[in-house]
Amino acid sequence: MKFKKFVVIFIILLVFSLVSCATVPITGRKQMTLISSSQMLAMSQTSYQGLIAKAKLSKNMEKIALVKRVGERIALATGDFLKEKGMGTELKYYDWEFNLIEDEKTINAFCMPGGKIAVYSGILNLTDNEDQLAVVIGHEVAHAIAKHGNERMSQMLLVQLGGVALQKALAEKPKKTKRLYMCAFGLGAQFGVILPYSRKHEEEADHIGLILMAKAGYMPEEAVYFWQKMKNLGGVRPPEFMSTHPANDTRINNLKRLLSQARQHLKKY
Ligand SMILES: [Zn+2]
Repeated sequence: MKFKKFVVIFIILLVFSLVSCATVPITGRKQMTLISSSQMLAMSQTSYQGLIAKAKLSKNMEKIALVKRVGERIALATGDFLKEKGMGTELKYYDWEFNLIEDEKTINAFCMPGGKIAVYSGILNLTDNEDQLAVVIGHEVAHAIAKHGNERMSQMLLVQLGGVALQKALAEKPKKTKRLYMCAFGLGAQFGVILPYSRKHEEEADHIGLILMAKAGYMPEEAVYFWQKMKNLGGVRPPEFMSTHPANDTRINNLKRLLSQARQHLKKY
């Protein structure tokens, strides 16, 4: 009993010594992030390179160009967005990469910290136009800039590693931290787990994503059309992106409500 109490106090002290309290841009929500941005970028680079090396990359020049074009425009908009929010110093932790993975069955896309983006060709069958691809990429990039992965991984680290000092855990338990990392980004399929983001994270990613796409010159209304279409597609076995991104009326109504704010950011190309 005494020992248990000691462990609890130790963990609390550890958390307070490591914790850096970040603020999510736009929503202003305070979040706990235990992992530094440079560490996150390092983990991201390793995971992304490993994943891309194993993946079958698309050879469709037209589609590759589409993904790069939308990705680069969203990346530029993200730079402007972070600078406007007084977070320009964060840009040094971004090293943008865009890849299109040839996999018609996987309806998904992701953005790891540092702007490591992958789009699976399956999701391109669901996007009617460039703007709707910007909805998907904008949303995923928004998860990254709002540090949702870091926040989730921090929560999981606390639960699973408890009293083991974080630096030590990251250095000595690479397998475990890799698993946590992949789970934190909703990419844990290879470990048998895909955790959907929480509703709070989804709402934030929708909100920030909408602003990013408008800043990149894409029509924010397309986000409403895209999610309406996703909602109608729902069935017994919804596609991967949908199983972690439920399309419901609340989501669509929230987006509609934010349209006028997003339109103010619309950049003319
Ligand atoms: Zn999401």
